[in-house]
Amino acid sequence: MNVTIDLEEISAMRTAATDAGTVPVTVAFGDGIGPEIMNASLKVLMAAGANISIEPIDIGERVYLAGETAGITPDAWDSLRRTKVFYKAPITTPQGGGFKSLNVTVRKSLGLFANVRPCAAYQPFVATKHPGMDVVIVRENEEDLYAGIEHRQTDEVYQCLKLISRPGCEKIVRYAFEYAKAHGRKKVTCFTKDNIMKLTDGLFHKVFDEIAADYPEIENEHWIIDIGAAKLADTPEAFDVVVMPNLYGDVLSDVAAQIAGSVGLAPSANIGEHCAMFEAIHGSAPRRAGQDVANPSGLLLAGVMMMAHIGQPEVAEKVHNAWLKTIEDGVHTYDIFKEGVSEEKVGTDAFARAIIERLGQKPTSLQPVSYQADAKPFAVPQATKRPAAKKEMVGIDVFVHSTKPVEELAQAMQGSDNQAFELAMITNRGVKVWPAGLPETFCTDHWRCRYLAKSGKEFNKAMIVDLLRDLNAGGVDFVKTEQLFTFDGEAGYSLGQGQ
Ligand code: NAD
Repeated sequence: MNVTIDLEEISAMRTAATDAGTVPVTVAFGDGIGPEIMNASLKVLMAAGANISIEPIDIGERVYLAGETAGITPDAWDSLRRTKVFYKAPITTPQGGGFKSLNVTVRKSLGLFANVRPCAAYQPFVATKHPGMDVVIVRENEEDLYAGIEHRQTDEVYQCLKLISRPGCEKIVRYAFEYAKAHGRKKVTCFTKDNIMKLTDGLFHKVFDEIAADYPEIENEHWIIDIGAAKLADTPEAFDVVVMPNLYGDVLSDVAAQIAGSVGLAPSANIGEHCAMFEAIHGSAPRRAGQDVANPSGLLLAGVMMMAHIGQPEVAEKVHNAWLKTIEDGVHTYDIFKEGVSEEKVGTDAFARAIIERLGQKPTSLQPVSYQADAKPFAVPQATKRPAAKKEMVGIDVFVHSTKPVEELAQAMQGSDNQAFELAMITNRGVKVWPAGLPETFCTDHWRCRYLAKSGKEFNKAMIVDLLRDLNAGGVDFVKTEQLFTFDGEAGYSLGQGQ
Protein backbone atom coordinates (compact mmCIF):
# COMPACT_ATOMS: atom_id res chain seq x y z
CA MET A 1 0.00 0.00 0.00
CA ASN A 2 2.99 2.31 0.49
CA VAL A 3 3.21 4.93 -2.23
CA THR A 4 6.60 6.37 -3.01
CA ILE A 5 6.96 10.08 -3.33
CA ASP A 6 8.35 10.80 -6.79
CA LEU A 7 10.33 13.84 -5.68
CA GLU A 8 13.31 13.21 -7.96
CA GLU A 9 11.11 12.49 -10.96
CA ILE A 10 9.01 15.59 -10.24
CA SER A 11 12.06 17.83 -9.84
CA ALA A 12 13.55 16.41 -13.08
CA MET A 13 10.32 17.35 -14.88
CA ARG A 14 10.86 20.99 -14.08
CA THR A 15 10.80 22.78 -17.43
CA ALA A 16 11.09 26.33 -16.14
CA ALA A 17 13.73 27.95 -18.31
CA THR A 18 15.61 29.74 -15.59
CA ASP A 19 16.33 29.64 -11.85
CA ALA A 20 15.65 33.34 -11.64
CA GLY A 21 12.28 33.88 -10.01
CA THR A 22 12.06 30.31 -8.71
CA VAL A 23 9.55 30.28 -5.86
CA PRO A 24 10.22 27.91 -2.95
CA VAL A 25 7.07 26.06 -1.92
CA THR A 26 6.60 23.90 1.19
CA VAL A 27 4.91 20.66 0.17
CA ALA A 28 3.26 18.06 2.42
CA PHE A 29 2.42 14.78 0.69
CA GLY A 30 -0.04 13.89 3.45
CA ASP A 31 -1.72 10.59 4.28
CA GLY A 32 -4.07 8.11 2.60
CA ILE A 33 -4.48 9.13 -1.05
CA GLY A 34 -2.34 12.24 -0.35
CA PRO A 35 1.00 11.04 -1.81
CA GLU A 36 -0.64 9.75 -5.02
CA ILE A 37 -2.62 12.90 -5.76
CA MET A 38 0.30 15.16 -4.78
CA ASN A 39 2.67 13.24 -7.09
CA ALA A 40 0.17 13.58 -9.92
CA SER A 41 -0.54 17.27 -9.29
CA LEU A 42 3.12 18.28 -9.04
CA LYS A 43 3.96 16.39 -12.26
CA VAL A 44 1.28 18.37 -14.13
CA LEU A 45 2.39 21.71 -12.65
CA MET A 46 6.05 21.01 -13.45
CA ALA A 47 5.27 19.88 -16.99
CA ALA A 48 3.38 23.15 -17.48
CA GLY A 49 6.48 25.14 -16.54
CA ALA A 50 5.91 25.89 -12.85
CA ASN A 51 8.99 27.73 -11.65
CA ILE A 52 8.98 26.37 -8.10
CA SER A 53 11.39 24.50 -5.85
CA ILE A 54 9.90 21.97 -3.47
CA GLU A 55 10.65 21.82 0.26
CA PRO A 56 8.99 18.60 1.48
CA ILE A 57 7.76 18.43 5.08
CA ASP A 58 6.25 15.59 7.05
CA ILE A 59 2.92 16.32 8.74
CA GLY A 60 -0.13 14.33 9.76
CA GLU A 61 -0.71 10.80 11.00
CA ARG A 62 2.90 9.67 11.48
CA VAL A 63 3.77 12.91 13.25
CA TYR A 64 0.69 12.69 15.49
CA LEU A 65 1.46 9.09 16.38
CA ALA A 66 5.10 9.99 17.13
CA GLY A 67 3.76 12.17 19.95
CA GLU A 68 3.31 15.65 18.38
CA THR A 69 -0.31 16.34 19.39
CA ALA A 70 -0.54 19.15 16.80
CA GLY A 71 0.57 16.82 13.93
CA ILE A 72 3.40 19.13 12.86
CA THR A 73 7.08 19.46 13.89
CA PRO A 74 9.12 22.63 14.63
CA ASP A 75 11.15 22.02 11.40
CA ALA A 76 7.95 22.08 9.37
CA TRP A 77 6.96 25.42 10.93
CA ASP A 78 10.41 26.80 10.01
CA SER A 79 9.88 25.79 6.38
CA LEU A 80 6.38 27.29 6.26
CA ARG A 81 7.52 30.57 7.77
CA ARG A 82 10.43 30.71 5.31
CA THR A 83 8.60 29.89 2.06
CA LYS A 84 5.22 31.40 3.05
CA VAL A 85 3.54 29.13 0.50
CA PHE A 86 2.14 25.75 1.52
CA TYR A 87 0.87 23.13 -0.92
CA LYS A 88 -0.79 20.52 1.24
CA ALA A 89 -2.24 17.08 0.50
CA PRO A 90 -4.97 15.81 2.85
CA ILE A 91 -3.94 14.19 6.10
CA THR A 92 -5.53 11.65 8.43
CA THR A 93 -6.34 12.85 11.93
CA PRO A 94 -6.05 9.81 14.24
CA GLN A 95 -9.28 8.84 16.02
CA GLY A 96 -9.64 9.59 19.70
CA GLY A 97 -9.06 12.59 21.92
CA GLY A 98 -5.83 14.48 22.42
CA PHE A 99 -5.14 15.28 18.76
CA LYS A 100 -5.76 18.88 17.70
CA SER A 101 -6.86 19.51 14.10
CA LEU A 102 -3.71 20.32 12.10
CA ASN A 103 -5.70 22.32 9.56
CA VAL A 104 -7.18 24.60 12.18
CA THR A 105 -3.76 24.97 13.87
CA VAL A 106 -2.01 25.91 10.60
CA ARG A 107 -4.76 28.30 9.50
CA LYS A 108 -4.88 30.10 12.81
CA SER A 109 -1.16 30.10 13.61
CA LEU A 110 -0.26 31.56 10.20
CA GLY A 111 -3.20 34.01 10.17
CA LEU A 112 -4.81 32.46 7.06
CA PHE A 113 -8.08 34.34 7.54
CA ALA A 114 -9.65 33.85 4.10
CA ASN A 115 -10.73 30.44 2.86
CA VAL A 116 -11.64 30.70 -0.81
CA ARG A 117 -13.50 27.81 -2.44
CA PRO A 118 -14.61 28.08 -6.07
CA CYS A 119 -17.42 25.60 -6.85
CA ALA A 120 -18.23 25.27 -10.55
CA ALA A 121 -20.36 22.85 -12.57
CA TYR A 122 -18.83 21.09 -15.59
CA GLN A 123 -22.05 20.17 -17.34
CA PRO A 124 -22.55 17.84 -19.22
CA PHE A 125 -19.22 16.15 -18.48
CA VAL A 126 -19.68 15.86 -14.71
CA ALA A 127 -23.24 15.07 -13.56
CA THR A 128 -24.85 17.99 -11.72
CA LYS A 129 -28.35 19.22 -10.95
CA HIS A 130 -27.14 22.81 -11.44
CA PRO A 131 -25.53 23.24 -14.86
CA GLY A 132 -25.10 27.02 -14.52
CA MET A 133 -23.46 26.95 -11.12
CA ASP A 134 -20.27 29.01 -10.67
CA VAL A 135 -20.07 30.12 -7.05
CA VAL A 136 -17.08 31.17 -4.95
CA ILE A 137 -17.50 30.70 -1.21
CA VAL A 138 -15.33 33.04 0.86
CA ARG A 139 -15.29 31.69 4.39
CA GLU A 140 -13.84 33.47 7.42
CA ASN A 141 -11.21 31.04 8.64
CA GLU A 142 -9.98 31.98 12.12
CA GLU A 143 -12.84 33.05 14.39
CA ASP A 144 -16.41 32.15 15.32
CA LEU A 145 -16.99 28.87 17.19
CA TYR A 146 -13.62 27.63 15.85
CA ALA A 147 -11.81 29.57 18.57
CA GLY A 148 -12.09 26.17 20.25
CA ILE A 149 -12.86 27.67 23.68
CA GLU A 150 -15.22 25.19 25.30
CA HIS A 151 -16.13 24.49 28.91
CA ARG A 152 -18.31 22.16 30.87
CA GLN A 153 -19.91 24.31 33.57
CA THR A 154 -22.49 22.17 35.34
CA ASP A 155 -23.68 18.56 35.38
CA GLU A 156 -25.91 19.31 32.43
CA VAL A 157 -24.47 22.22 30.48
CA TYR A 158 -21.47 22.69 28.19
CA GLN A 159 -20.58 25.88 26.32
CA CYS A 160 -18.55 26.91 23.27
CA LEU A 161 -17.60 30.56 22.85
CA LYS A 162 -18.38 32.24 19.55
CA LEU A 163 -15.86 35.05 19.06
CA ILE A 164 -16.27 37.52 16.21
CA SER A 165 -13.94 40.53 15.91
CA ARG A 166 -14.35 43.73 13.91
CA PRO A 167 -10.88 43.40 12.30
CA GLY A 168 -11.75 39.78 11.42
CA CYS A 169 -15.02 40.86 9.76
CA GLU A 170 -13.41 43.78 7.96
CA LYS A 171 -10.59 41.66 6.51
CA ILE A 172 -12.81 38.85 5.23
CA VAL A 173 -15.58 41.05 3.84
CA ARG A 174 -13.11 43.34 2.08
CA TYR A 175 -11.30 40.25 0.77
CA ALA A 176 -14.60 39.02 -0.75
CA PHE A 177 -15.20 42.34 -2.52
CA GLU A 178 -11.57 42.63 -3.68
CA TYR A 179 -11.75 39.06 -4.98
CA ALA A 180 -14.99 39.85 -6.83
CA LYS A 181 -13.42 42.98 -8.35
CA ALA A 182 -10.21 41.21 -9.39
CA HIS A 183 -12.09 38.29 -10.96
CA GLY A 184 -14.75 40.30 -12.76
CA ARG A 185 -17.55 38.97 -10.56
CA LYS A 186 -20.77 40.94 -10.30
CA LYS A 187 -22.26 40.27 -6.87
CA VAL A 188 -21.23 39.55 -3.29
CA THR A 189 -23.80 37.92 -0.98
CA CYS A 190 -23.44 37.77 2.80
CA PHE A 191 -25.01 35.00 4.95
CA THR A 192 -25.43 35.45 8.71
CA LYS A 193 -27.91 34.56 11.45
CA ASP A 194 -28.13 38.10 12.84
CA ASN A 195 -31.85 37.86 13.57
CA ILE A 196 -30.78 35.62 16.47
CA MET A 197 -27.12 36.49 17.15
CA LYS A 198 -27.55 40.23 17.02
CA LEU A 199 -24.14 41.17 18.38
CA THR A 200 -21.77 38.62 16.79
CA ASP A 201 -23.43 37.93 13.43
CA GLY A 202 -24.90 41.44 13.67
CA LEU A 203 -21.34 42.83 13.56
CA PHE A 204 -20.50 40.71 10.49
CA HIS A 205 -23.61 42.00 8.70
CA LYS A 206 -22.98 45.61 9.75
CA VAL A 207 -19.36 45.50 8.51
CA PHE A 208 -20.61 43.91 5.27
CA ASP A 209 -22.98 46.86 4.70
CA GLU A 210 -20.23 49.38 5.52
CA ILE A 211 -17.66 47.81 3.17
CA ALA A 212 -20.16 47.12 0.36
CA ALA A 213 -20.62 50.90 0.11
CA ASP A 214 -16.95 51.16 -1.02
CA TYR A 215 -17.73 48.95 -4.06
CA PRO A 216 -20.73 50.58 -5.80
CA GLU A 217 -19.92 48.70 -9.02
CA ILE A 218 -20.52 45.33 -7.30
CA GLU A 219 -24.06 44.30 -6.36
CA ASN A 220 -24.48 43.26 -2.73
CA GLU A 221 -27.15 41.45 -0.73
CA HIS A 222 -27.62 39.78 2.63
CA TRP A 223 -29.62 36.65 3.44
CA ILE A 224 -30.37 35.07 6.79
CA ILE A 225 -28.30 31.87 6.57
CA ASP A 226 -31.20 29.39 6.75
CA ILE A 227 -33.12 30.70 3.75
CA GLY A 228 -29.85 31.70 2.08
CA ALA A 229 -28.55 28.12 2.36
CA ALA A 230 -31.84 26.77 1.01
CA LYS A 231 -31.60 29.12 -1.99
CA LEU A 232 -27.94 28.25 -2.54
CA ALA A 233 -28.81 24.53 -2.64
CA ASP A 234 -31.84 25.12 -4.87
CA THR A 235 -30.70 27.87 -7.26
CA PRO A 236 -26.93 28.24 -6.92
CA GLU A 237 -26.80 29.98 -10.30
CA ALA A 238 -28.36 33.02 -8.55
CA PHE A 239 -25.16 33.44 -6.48
CA ASP A 240 -21.71 34.67 -7.43
CA VAL A 241 -19.35 35.33 -4.48
CA VAL A 242 -20.76 34.42 -1.04
CA VAL A 243 -19.03 35.55 2.17
CA MET A 244 -19.85 34.18 5.61
CA PRO A 245 -18.53 33.44 9.10
CA ASN A 246 -16.45 30.32 9.74
CA LEU A 247 -18.96 27.61 10.73
CA TYR A 248 -21.57 28.43 8.07
CA GLY A 249 -18.77 28.62 5.48
CA ASP A 250 -17.36 25.27 6.54
CA VAL A 251 -20.71 23.54 6.07
CA LEU A 252 -21.92 25.38 3.00
CA SER A 253 -18.68 25.17 1.03
CA ASP A 254 -18.94 21.37 1.14
CA VAL A 255 -22.62 21.56 0.14
CA ALA A 256 -21.76 23.93 -2.72
CA ALA A 257 -18.89 21.72 -3.94
CA GLN A 258 -21.03 18.59 -3.82
CA ILE A 259 -24.03 20.06 -5.67
CA ALA A 260 -21.68 21.49 -8.31
CA GLY A 261 -20.64 17.91 -9.12
CA SER A 262 -18.31 16.41 -6.53
CA VAL A 263 -16.33 17.40 -3.44
CA GLY A 264 -13.49 15.56 -5.18
CA LEU A 265 -13.13 18.40 -7.71
CA ALA A 266 -13.09 21.42 -5.41
CA PRO A 267 -9.90 23.29 -4.47
CA SER A 268 -9.38 25.70 -1.63
CA ALA A 269 -6.99 28.56 -0.94
CA ASN A 270 -6.29 29.76 2.59
CA ILE A 271 -4.93 33.28 2.38
CA GLY A 272 -3.31 35.45 5.04
CA GLU A 273 -1.26 38.61 5.17
CA HIS A 274 2.00 36.67 5.46
CA CYS A 275 1.39 33.15 4.14
CA ALA A 276 -1.00 31.09 2.02
CA MET A 277 -1.98 27.42 1.95
CA PHE A 278 -3.53 25.51 -0.96
CA GLU A 279 -5.33 22.18 -0.61
CA ALA A 280 -8.22 20.05 -1.86
CA ILE A 281 -11.36 20.26 0.26
CA HIS A 282 -11.72 16.48 0.58
CA GLY A 283 -9.92 14.29 3.11
CA SER A 284 -7.36 11.50 2.86
CA ALA A 285 -9.91 8.83 1.78
CA PRO A 286 -7.89 6.03 3.47
CA ARG A 287 -9.96 3.25 1.88
CA ARG A 288 -8.87 4.40 -1.60
CA ALA A 289 -5.20 4.80 -0.67
CA GLY A 290 -2.46 3.03 -2.61
CA GLN A 291 -4.75 1.90 -5.44
CA ASP A 292 -3.97 4.62 -8.02
CA VAL A 293 -7.70 5.41 -8.34
CA ALA A 294 -8.16 8.73 -6.49
CA ASN A 295 -9.08 11.87 -8.39
CA PRO A 296 -6.28 14.46 -8.08
CA SER A 297 -8.46 17.30 -9.46
CA GLY A 298 -9.19 19.12 -6.17
CA LEU A 299 -5.50 19.25 -5.26
CA LEU A 300 -4.42 20.09 -8.81
CA LEU A 301 -6.90 22.98 -9.03
CA ALA A 302 -5.62 24.16 -5.64
CA GLY A 303 -2.17 24.09 -7.28
CA VAL A 304 -3.61 26.24 -10.08
CA MET A 305 -4.77 28.79 -7.47
CA MET A 306 -1.27 28.62 -5.96
CA MET A 307 0.41 29.35 -9.31
CA ALA A 308 -1.80 32.43 -9.76
CA HIS A 309 -1.02 33.49 -6.17
CA ILE A 310 2.77 33.27 -6.62
CA GLY A 311 2.68 35.31 -9.80
CA GLN A 312 2.79 32.57 -12.44
CA PRO A 313 -0.68 33.04 -14.00
CA GLU A 314 0.46 31.63 -17.34
CA VAL A 315 1.09 28.25 -15.66
CA ALA A 316 -2.26 28.45 -13.84
CA GLU A 317 -4.04 29.14 -17.11
CA LYS A 318 -2.26 26.40 -19.05
CA VAL A 319 -2.98 23.74 -16.42
CA HIS A 320 -6.58 24.78 -15.82
CA ASN A 321 -7.43 24.77 -19.53
CA ALA A 322 -5.70 21.40 -20.09
CA TRP A 323 -7.65 20.00 -17.11
CA LEU A 324 -10.95 21.33 -18.55
CA LYS A 325 -10.05 19.75 -21.91
CA THR A 326 -9.33 16.40 -20.22
CA ILE A 327 -12.67 16.51 -18.41
CA GLU A 328 -14.39 17.49 -21.64
CA ASP A 329 -12.69 14.65 -23.53
CA GLY A 330 -14.33 12.23 -21.08
CA VAL A 331 -11.10 11.04 -19.47
CA HIS A 332 -12.45 10.52 -15.96
CA THR A 333 -11.48 8.92 -12.64
CA TYR A 334 -13.94 6.46 -11.05
CA ASP A 335 -15.67 9.04 -8.86
CA ILE A 336 -17.00 11.09 -11.79
CA PHE A 337 -17.07 8.29 -14.41
CA LYS A 338 -20.51 7.88 -15.98
CA GLU A 339 -21.40 5.38 -18.67
CA GLY A 340 -22.56 7.19 -21.81
CA VAL A 341 -20.83 10.47 -20.86
CA SER A 342 -17.29 9.40 -19.99
CA GLU A 343 -14.99 7.97 -22.67
CA GLU A 344 -12.29 6.36 -20.57
CA LYS A 345 -11.96 5.39 -16.90
CA VAL A 346 -8.43 6.15 -15.71
CA GLY A 347 -6.43 6.01 -12.49
CA THR A 348 -4.64 8.89 -10.77
CA ASP A 349 -1.39 8.69 -12.70
CA ALA A 350 -3.02 8.16 -16.11
CA PHE A 351 -5.33 11.12 -15.46
CA ALA A 352 -2.28 13.32 -14.78
CA ARG A 353 -0.64 12.06 -17.99
CA ALA A 354 -3.81 12.84 -19.94
CA ILE A 355 -3.68 16.44 -18.67
CA ILE A 356 0.03 16.73 -19.51
CA GLU A 357 -0.72 15.54 -23.07
CA ARG A 358 -3.26 18.38 -23.38
CA LEU A 359 -1.08 21.20 -22.02
CA GLY A 360 -1.41 24.09 -24.46
CA GLN A 361 -4.94 23.07 -25.50
CA LYS A 362 -8.19 24.77 -24.52
CA PRO A 363 -11.64 23.28 -23.95
CA THR A 364 -14.16 23.77 -26.74
CA SER A 365 -17.49 23.10 -24.97
CA LEU A 366 -16.56 24.27 -21.50
CA GLN A 367 -15.55 27.90 -21.03
CA PRO A 368 -11.75 28.32 -21.22
CA VAL A 369 -10.18 30.29 -18.37
CA SER A 370 -7.88 33.27 -18.70
CA TYR A 371 -5.92 34.03 -15.55
CA GLN A 372 -3.68 36.52 -17.29
CA ALA A 373 -6.58 38.67 -18.52
CA ASP A 374 -9.33 38.02 -15.97
CA ALA A 375 -7.68 37.64 -12.59
CA LYS A 376 -5.76 40.68 -11.42
CA PRO A 377 -3.56 40.37 -8.34
CA PHE A 378 -4.73 42.37 -5.32
CA ALA A 379 -3.23 43.19 -1.94
CA VAL A 380 -4.46 41.22 1.06
CA PRO A 381 -6.79 43.64 2.87
CA GLN A 382 -6.02 45.03 6.30
CA ALA A 383 -8.45 46.12 9.00
CA THR A 384 -8.74 49.84 9.73
CA LYS A 385 -7.54 51.15 13.08
CA ARG A 386 -10.36 52.75 15.09
CA PRO A 387 -10.34 54.90 18.19
CA ALA A 388 -11.38 53.10 21.38
CA ALA A 389 -15.05 53.57 22.33
CA LYS A 390 -16.16 55.04 25.67
CA LYS A 391 -16.70 51.87 27.70
CA GLU A 392 -18.83 51.89 30.84
CA MET A 393 -19.63 48.95 33.09
CA VAL A 394 -23.33 48.79 33.93
CA GLY A 395 -23.76 45.37 35.50
CA ILE A 396 -22.78 41.74 35.60
CA ASP A 397 -24.17 38.32 34.64
CA VAL A 398 -23.39 35.67 37.23
CA PHE A 399 -23.81 32.10 35.95
CA VAL A 400 -24.83 29.65 38.64
CA HIS A 401 -24.94 25.85 38.94
CA SER A 402 -28.11 25.09 40.90
CA THR A 403 -30.88 22.49 41.07
CA LYS A 404 -33.15 24.69 43.25
CA PRO A 405 -36.50 25.95 41.98
CA VAL A 406 -36.09 29.41 40.45
CA GLU A 407 -37.95 31.26 43.24
CA GLU A 408 -35.58 29.77 45.82
CA LEU A 409 -32.59 30.64 43.65
CA ALA A 410 -33.87 34.20 43.21
CA GLN A 411 -34.16 34.47 47.00
CA ALA A 412 -30.55 33.33 47.46
CA MET A 413 -29.35 35.77 44.79
CA GLN A 414 -31.52 38.66 46.12
CA GLY A 415 -29.72 38.37 49.41
CA SER A 416 -26.79 40.02 47.73
CA ASP A 417 -28.84 43.03 46.72
CA ASN A 418 -27.08 46.31 47.15
CA GLN A 419 -27.88 50.01 47.11
CA ALA A 420 -26.10 50.53 43.80
CA PHE A 421 -27.36 47.54 41.82
CA GLU A 422 -30.14 44.96 41.81
CA LEU A 423 -30.96 41.50 40.52
CA ALA A 424 -32.81 42.34 37.30
CA MET A 425 -33.60 38.89 35.90
CA ILE A 426 -32.71 35.22 35.84
CA THR A 427 -32.60 33.24 32.61
CA ASN A 428 -32.18 29.55 31.93
CA ARG A 429 -30.38 28.82 28.65
CA GLY A 430 -31.19 32.42 27.67
CA VAL A 431 -34.93 32.35 28.44
CA LYS A 432 -36.19 34.68 31.15
CA VAL A 433 -37.61 32.57 34.00
CA TRP A 434 -37.61 35.22 36.77
CA PRO A 435 -39.41 37.49 37.42
CA ALA A 436 -42.65 36.32 35.84
CA GLY A 437 -41.41 33.21 34.02
CA LEU A 438 -43.68 30.56 32.49
CA PRO A 439 -44.09 27.21 34.28
CA GLU A 440 -43.82 25.46 30.88
CA THR A 441 -40.19 26.58 30.33
CA PHE A 442 -37.81 23.62 30.66
CA CYS A 443 -34.95 24.43 33.00
CA THR A 444 -31.53 22.84 33.36
CA ASP A 445 -29.08 23.27 36.25
CA HIS A 446 -27.46 26.33 34.61
CA TRP A 447 -28.79 29.83 35.42
CA ARG A 448 -27.74 33.32 34.38
CA CYS A 449 -28.47 35.94 37.05
CA ARG A 450 -28.25 39.49 35.73
CA TYR A 451 -27.40 42.38 38.05
CA LEU A 452 -27.79 45.91 36.71
CA ALA A 453 -26.78 49.26 38.20
CA LYS A 454 -29.74 51.18 39.59
CA SER A 455 -30.66 54.30 37.71
CA GLY A 456 -28.04 57.01 38.12
CA LYS A 457 -25.69 54.73 40.12
CA GLU A 458 -22.20 53.72 39.13
CA PHE A 459 -21.20 50.04 38.88
CA ASN A 460 -17.57 49.13 39.48
CA LYS A 461 -15.22 46.18 39.91
CA ALA A 462 -15.08 46.53 43.70
CA MET A 463 -18.83 45.84 43.75
CA ILE A 464 -18.26 42.62 41.81
CA VAL A 465 -15.76 41.45 44.40
CA ASP A 466 -18.26 42.23 47.21
CA LEU A 467 -21.11 40.54 45.33
CA LEU A 468 -19.14 37.36 44.73
CA ARG A 469 -17.94 37.29 48.35
CA ASP A 470 -21.58 37.54 49.52
CA LEU A 471 -22.75 34.86 47.07
CA ASN A 472 -19.93 32.57 48.14
CA ALA A 473 -20.83 33.09 51.80
CA GLY A 474 -24.44 32.21 50.92
CA GLY A 475 -23.33 28.92 49.37
CA VAL A 476 -24.08 29.94 45.77
CA ASP A 477 -22.11 27.80 43.25
CA PHE A 478 -21.23 30.44 40.65
CA VAL A 479 -19.40 29.00 37.64
CA LYS A 480 -18.70 32.07 35.53
CA THR A 481 -19.21 35.83 35.41
CA GLU A 482 -19.57 38.13 32.43
CA GLN A 483 -19.42 41.91 32.89
CA LEU A 484 -21.97 44.07 31.08
CA PHE A 485 -20.69 47.14 29.26
CA THR A 486 -22.01 49.93 27.13
CA PHE A 487 -19.77 51.20 24.32
CA ASP A 488 -20.40 54.86 23.43
CA GLY A 489 -23.73 54.42 25.22
CA GLU A 490 -24.79 51.34 23.21
CA ALA A 491 -25.47 48.10 25.13
CA GLY A 492 -22.72 45.52 24.52
CA TYR A 493 -24.89 42.61 25.70
CA SER A 494 -28.05 40.87 24.55
CA LEU A 495 -31.39 40.90 26.36
CA GLY A 496 -32.86 37.73 27.84
CA GLN A 497 -35.38 35.90 25.63
CA GLY A 498 -38.76 37.21 26.74
CA GLN A 499 -37.22 40.19 28.58
P1 NAD B 1 -12.84 11.99 2.70
O1 NAD B 1 -13.00 13.27 1.97
O2 NAD B 1 -11.44 11.51 2.86
O3 NAD B 1 -13.67 10.87 1.94
C1 NAD B 1 -15.08 10.96 1.75
C2 NAD B 1 -15.51 10.13 0.54
O4 NAD B 1 -15.09 10.75 -0.65
C3 NAD B 1 -14.92 8.74 0.51
O5 NAD B 1 -15.91 7.86 0.06
C4 NAD B 1 -13.80 8.80 -0.51
O6 NAD B 1 -13.62 7.58 -1.15
C5 NAD B 1 -14.27 9.89 -1.45
N1 NAD B 1 -13.15 10.74 -1.93
C6 NAD B 1 -12.58 11.76 -1.27
N2 NAD B 1 -11.61 12.30 -2.01
C7 NAD B 1 -11.58 11.61 -3.16
C8 NAD B 1 -10.77 11.71 -4.33
N3 NAD B 1 -9.81 12.63 -4.46
N4 NAD B 1 -11.00 10.83 -5.32
C9 NAD B 1 -11.96 9.93 -5.23
N5 NAD B 1 -12.75 9.77 -4.16
C10 NAD B 1 -12.56 10.61 -3.13
O7 NAD B 1 -13.55 12.16 4.11
P2 NAD B 1 -13.55 11.22 5.40
O8 NAD B 1 -13.62 9.78 4.98
O9 NAD B 1 -14.57 11.78 6.27
O10 NAD B 1 -12.15 11.50 6.12
C11 NAD B 1 -10.99 10.67 5.98
C12 NAD B 1 -9.83 11.31 6.73
O11 NAD B 1 -9.50 12.56 6.11
C13 NAD B 1 -10.11 11.61 8.20
O12 NAD B 1 -8.97 11.26 8.96
C14 NAD B 1 -10.29 13.11 8.24
O13 NAD B 1 -9.90 13.66 9.47
C15 NAD B 1 -9.35 13.55 7.13
N6 NAD B 1 -9.67 14.86 6.51
C16 NAD B 1 -8.61 15.63 6.19
C17 NAD B 1 -8.83 16.85 5.55
C18 NAD B 1 -7.62 17.67 5.20
O14 NAD B 1 -6.51 17.26 5.42
N7 NAD B 1 -7.83 18.86 4.62
C19 NAD B 1 -10.12 17.27 5.23
C20 NAD B 1 -11.20 16.44 5.55
C21 NAD B 1 -10.96 15.21 6.20
